[in-house]
Amino acid sequence: MINYTERIALLMQDVVSRTPALSFINLREVLVFGRFGRPEAEGAFATCHCLTLPQSEPGYYFWRDRTTGELTRRSEWFVTKTPEVRIGSTRIKYLISFVLPRFCEQRLDRSWKSELYESENSWVAKLDTIVHELYHIDPAATGIRQFANANGTRSRQHGPEFYEEVATIVRSYLDSRPDPRAYEFLRWDFAGLQREFGGVVATTFRNFPSFPQRYMEPCTALPVDEDVKVERLKPLTQPSLYTEDDLHVRQFTDTSTRRLARKGAHRAA
Ligand SMILES: [Zn+2]
Repeated sequence: MINYTERIALLMQDVVSRTPALSFINLREVLVFGRFGRPEAEGAFATCHCLTLPQSEPGYYFWRDRTTGELTRRSEWFVTKTPEVRIGSTRIKYLISFVLPRFCEQRLDRSWKSELYESENSWVAKLDTIVHELYHIDPAATGIRQFANANGTRSRQHGPEFYEEVATIVRSYLDSRPDPRAYEFLRWDFAGLQREFGGVVATTFRNFPSFPQRYMEPCTALPVDEDVKVERLKPLTQPSLYTEDDLHVRQFTDTSTRRLARKGAHRAA
């Protein structure tokens, strides 16, 4: 079976090594994983998740009486935190998720991206998505790459330049004559991958379909006005630290996923 996320990670290594604009990225600090999503459903093909965002200032939710404006209820104090992901001794800074099988069905000729690539092969749409997510990694290491809007404010949305920059990187990568074995797995759609490799597997987290996400942690040290009803936060359902033991390999099909038994070789002695 083809390990799709592993292939993407290897391709990313090749792209980064041939692309000066991305050479600051240390892929040991980037973890690629799979999420499930049907091709016919709306949604992203891939997402870049930053794990270096700082803890938030303490805050709370509150509810007011509509007529009097009086505070009727509030949550306990909390801070929002990012879970830590460690693989061996390396702290992971970014997660990049690919939605399978949806990602595999991308085609340039069905996409607005065809405006950016005139004559290329249809699978280049997938390479474009991979580079797009890498391009979200901020060279200033402050999180997700931000952009100056025309009015001078900063935005997380990408303007047209983002897409053009990505397309320029994709074209110059292909012009650098990489070994086709690095990217040829992108030529197959999902049915083609299953025929060719006998199945598609990907790295996922133990709590699949969940994965490391920002969470709220109560701050019990801060005082609370006892006249107002205080709602407790929901108990934490995800770990605050993930390690290689939290990684599972799952097989993806058109309609579902299933966990594959972990190979002994993965475990440290
Ligand atoms: Zn984006």
